Amino acid sequence: MNFQNLKYWRDKASHYSPETRLFINGEYCAAADNETFITQDPAGQRPLAKVARGKKADVDRAVTAARTVFERGDWSQASPAERKAVLHKLADLMEQHHEELALLETLDTGKPIRHSLRDDIPGAARAIRWYAEAIDKVYGEVATTSVNDLALIVREPVGVIAAVVPWNFPLLLACWKLGPALAAGNSVILKPSEKSPLTAIRLAALAKKAGLPDGVLNVVSGYGHEAGQALSLHPDVDAITFTGSTRTGKQLLKDAGDSNMKRVWLEAGGKSANIVFADCPDLPKAAANAAAGIFYNQGQVCIAGTRLLLEESIADEFIALLKEQAKNWQPGNPLDPETTLGTLIDNAHADTVDTFIRDGEAQGTLALDGRSHVHPAAIGPTIFVDTAPQAHVSRDEIFGPVLVVTRFSSEAEALALANDSDYGLGAAVWTRDLSRAHRMSRRLKAGSVFVNNYNDGDMTVPFGGYKQSGNGRDKSLHALEKFSELKTIWISLES
Ligand code: NAD
Repeated sequence: MNFQNLKYWRDKASHYSPETRLFINGEYCAAADNETFITQDPAGQRPLAKVARGKKADVDRAVTAARTVFERGDWSQASPAERKAVLHKLADLMEQHHEELALLETLDTGKPIRHSLRDDIPGAARAIRWYAEAIDKVYGEVATTSVNDLALIVREPVGVIAAVVPWNFPLLLACWKLGPALAAGNSVILKPSEKSPLTAIRLAALAKKAGLPDGVLNVVSGYGHEAGQALSLHPDVDAITFTGSTRTGKQLLKDAGDSNMKRVWLEAGGKSANIVFADCPDLPKAAANAAAGIFYNQGQVCIAGTRLLLEESIADEFIALLKEQAKNWQPGNPLDPETTLGTLIDNAHADTVDTFIRDGEAQGTLALDGRSHVHPAAIGPTIFVDTAPQAHVSRDEIFGPVLVVTRFSSEAEALALANDSDYGLGAAVWTRDLSRAHRMSRRLKAGSVFVNNYNDGDMTVPFGGYKQSGNGRDKSLHALEKFSELKTIWISLES
């Protein structure tokens, strides 16, 4: 892949003027009350765009458009093969607009352009294409009845889906939801984060160009307490699929109970454990993976390996390797293709991470301090060792490049430490011992367990959490379960 150079991306950025309006019923439009909000380019420390501030009236319009087209059947009743063709076209268009979408994502979030180009945008297009390819290969069932009856079990689209997504992988996570939701025949209202709305808004026009009927995909930008809450309380939204914080996830469950008992699918926070045993097959590889597992995307990854558990006998050697690896993750200008660590999403979040680090200093040893950077939104690799298990840095999701290292002396202790968390998104085990790998994999309370890697995988496997990391699963055919209703049709045959 040609990543170009800093001048190339600076020039492109200075000539680009993003679309900033809502997209409802196939048209871009201002918010009903004409209000806007300003998004920031965290790396450039400048206002980036004035974006339409959707509220209840706009959500109402979007839900009406989504419901109308759903009941009319333009998309919901189209054959899977027809939906497949449109979604393939959308994936093609995303690939054709790869650079533009990557630039928008980097400007909006501060993530390195090399990662937007290599991971976010291709991953988003892949998600749409994967469900396009899958949807005409998913069959219903025929139950085991007597010969006098016939019972069919069929899947139908749920109806109107609200997709509410965060800012850490804006387009990628939106497409993890849009792929299965649209392939299954639903209408969607996508609510991007107020901190990173631009790729979602741009995607809407590509979807229209691909042939998606008006009203099937609507994008309502705005704040969580306005546009987001209007969706979660809406009586005509059938399901809400969410990625974001555990706190907001809990609120969505309440809102569903207070409104129409819509289905609520949550992908929430994490505090994942990465466990390295002394018989790890390749310590340098494990150290490189552990560093990427926490420093990639500035640590703003739900499944980041934030808790590193090291067997006592290799701990010192591993920490030294890790510090070496951390040198590959030094903050730089996100528009420079050489940069591997960009800025955090905004100055306020950088302050929050800074507060965690200051708090942690009182309860453990700071082995590597990433705070010496002059940029107000940048924090470099930070490593704590031997921190009290009850300290905030040990238990809470920091969502920054901050790693907490703990030593253990037995398998049982490693397992107990790993499972001692409110979260259960991911876990990893590094060992040569096949039996131990299996034992640990089955006992770790996490939606994904990685053995001798950290966070490998692709669209074929489900992604989601145990405990307060959420419910339901994104990716794989299992994600279709969230976006379809099961219907039984029992037919009595005349004899
Ligand atoms: P957030 O919960 O603040 O916001 C997520 C989305 O919810 C945004 O679009 C926001 O506007 C909206 N929202 C906020 N309040 C709302 C309300 N009352 N009603 C409806 N919508 C509301 O999360 P964030 O700060 O944007 O993202 C970071 C969090 O996302 C972290 O906790 C991270 O772990 C989590 N995350 C989880 C996964 C996963 O797959 N499990 C993936 C990525 C990020």
